[in-house]
Amino acid sequence: MQRLVFASHNPHKMEEIRAILGPDFLLSGLDELGCDTEIPEPYDSLVDNAMAKARFVARHYGCDCFADDTGLEVDVLGGLPGVQSARFAGPQKDSRANVNKLLTMLSDHDRPRARFRTIIALILEGREYFFEGRVEGVIIGEPRGDGGFGYDPVFVPDGQDQTFAEMDSHKKNRISHRKQALAKLAAFLRSRSTAR
Ligand code: IMP
Repeated sequence: MQRLVFASHNPHKMEEIRAILGPDFLLSGLDELGCDTEIPEPYDSLVDNAMAKARFVARHYGCDCFADDTGLEVDVLGGLPGVQSARFAGPQKDSRANVNKLLTMLSDHDRPRARFRTIIALILEGREYFFEGRVEGVIIGEPRGDGGFGYDPVFVPDGQDQTFAEMDSHKKNRISHRKQALAKLAAFLRSRSTAR
């Protein structure tokens, strides 16, 4: 069985990732490592932030590990909120305030194009790899739906009528940016373990 650390304190993400990777991988989170550090994400790209987190874990704990970073990128805002997605309206990471700020900035635009993008950075036996998942769509002018989190109530993926927040979690998780990046990671890890 392959041991891997996911550089996160988030138990919901851990469960999602365990379900996708399956039983061949023994996955631990930062809490199980005894790491209570909030690893900094100081860079202005998802790739750099994800790899900074993975390198932190590899350096301090000497294990194979991966980390993720996700952002919502709105074309007419030059890619904002992007890496600032969590703290767009301030350090308190308030989703409602983030959505309100976004809608205010977009008030002159009709269904502007946007995407969720997830980067996973993996360090395996000292080598570095990246995996990307993305979902294209539009931002609507009024929040709709009670599910999900973050910007889900204002994001409608291409080919869908519902916002992410109106979908049940299974439907969202089948098509999400995070799922796509994780599926690529899982395929890569499986191809390596069968090649041995
Ligand atoms: P993280 O890198 O997964 O922590 O995501 C950073 C921020 O992006 C979150 O705090 C949310 O504001 C936003 N975000 C990430 N994934 C999603 C999603 O699936 N739906 C809505 N917002 C998201």
